[in-house]
Amino acid sequence: MTTAPAGGRLDAAALRARVADFVAAHDPATTDQSEFLAARFDAGLAWVHFPEGAGGLGAPRALQVVVDKEFARLGAPVPAGRERLVIGLGMAAPTILAFGTPEQRERFLKPLYTGEEVWCQLFSEPGAGSDLAALGTRAVRDGDAWVVNGQKVWTSGAHAARWGILIARTDPDVPKHRGITYFVCDMSDPGVDVRPLRQMTGEAEFNEVYLTDVRIPDAHRLGEVGDGWRVAQTTLMNERVSIGGHAEPREGGLIGVVADIWRDRPQARTPGMHDALLRLWVEAEAARLTKERLRQQLAIGQPGPEGSAAKLSFAELNQRISGLELELLGGEGLTYDDWTFRRPEGADFRSRVAGFHYLRSKGNSIEGGTSEILRNIIAERVLGLPGEVRVDKDVAWKDLPK
Ligand SMILES: Cc1cc2nc3c(=O)[nH]c(=O)nc-3n(C[C@H](O)[C@H](O)[C@H](O)COP(=O)(O)OP(=O)(O)OC[C@H]3O[C@@H](n4cnc5c(N)ncnc54)[C@H](O)[C@@H]3O)c2cc1C
Repeated sequence: MTTAPAGGRLDAAALRARVADFVAAHDPATTDQSEFLAARFDAGLAWVHFPEGAGGLGAPRALQVVVDKEFARLGAPVPAGRERLVIGLGMAAPTILAFGTPEQRERFLKPLYTGEEVWCQLFSEPGAGSDLAALGTRAVRDGDAWVVNGQKVWTSGAHAARWGILIARTDPDVPKHRGITYFVCDMSDPGVDVRPLRQMTGEAEFNEVYLTDVRIPDAHRLGEVGDGWRVAQTTLMNERVSIGGHAEPREGGLIGVVADIWRDRPQARTPGMHDALLRLWVEAEAARLTKERLRQQLAIGQPGPEGSAAKLSFAELNQRISGLELELLGGEGLTYDDWTFRRPEGADFRSRVAGFHYLRSKGNSIEGGTSEILRNIIAERVLGLPGEVRVDKDVAWKDLPK
């Protein structure tokens, strides 16, 4: 057994020692997974850059990767079901950390980390997607609570969620970006009505959510009244990284599936297919290495426009690779006959057939910001090209044409 330095300077060696001590005291082979994760949170080894008491140790952000690698090496469980927890872990947690009160961090972060409480994102509305700041869901102050009315749409995993991150309009008299406030919505409130939306894959990962007189305590507001757009930017930047920045090993994603089909089926090999596969393999490898660089940049700071580039390349590549997979499989690839109405909590790319990959990948260029919008962000914030003309910038939201 190692001896971790108590207090003292936290460097990579000190953290590795802490992880080794932790695993010695909580044998992953015999400890219940939730208990293991709860204890890991309490020990400050969930997110080491978070403050003490919030799952961290106040260590430099770059050291998180050291801790994760050491836990993996020692066979420790990770927060279960990346798909199920992606909104909580990838989007709600960094927003709560940046804008939450100590009480909010205390209430929300631990069950989010252990997977006990699932989160969803109540942002999009029928009239507000790419132009999210146009949203019309109203939150009106009533004593120490807010009364919320409106409709959200495309809400992934709302059927399984305990909490939702919600943005709503609190002041219609100011321009659209300024009158928004950010809340945590209790999905078990009687005014929350979740209805499935069936996708072209046959299943319903996402939902419409109707909000009728939902009472949200003011204590569940994240950030200042009217400052919700700024708070939402933290969520959105992290969302792009969560969707597109996931680091895979070489051939770890869909390109690996297609390369295996190529290896296993000599009859499918033509010079044209060879050329197509090679090009996509090289692009997937370039995307993987770029994501690795992004991961290292993130380790020392916040996600920036690089996250938009990662999400864009992930979406475009997934669609092209799943198209090639269908071509390689010929007629067999077209036999997608499982239209079972499922209520999954995310897209399960690994265990499904080629037809599912193809159909589900169409959503990749829409979810988390469309490819057109991401190109706009890259054009404006990376390349410095002139911004889009925005004529509604100084007009009160209530006066905008609806
Ligand atoms: C699988 C999936 C899961 C999702 N999960 C969630 C979720 O959990 N929570 C949530 O809140 N939302 C979710 N969404 C919604 C998603 O974020 C929105 O669909 C997306 O932001 C696009 O908005 P929209 O559908 O209103 O399209 P619109 O904004 O109406 O866009 C329609 C088309 O016009 C283009 N366009 C619009 N404005 C411009 C412009 N200025 N310049 C160039 N082109 C433009 C768009 O790129 C797009 O091609 C999900 C969507 C999908 C597909």
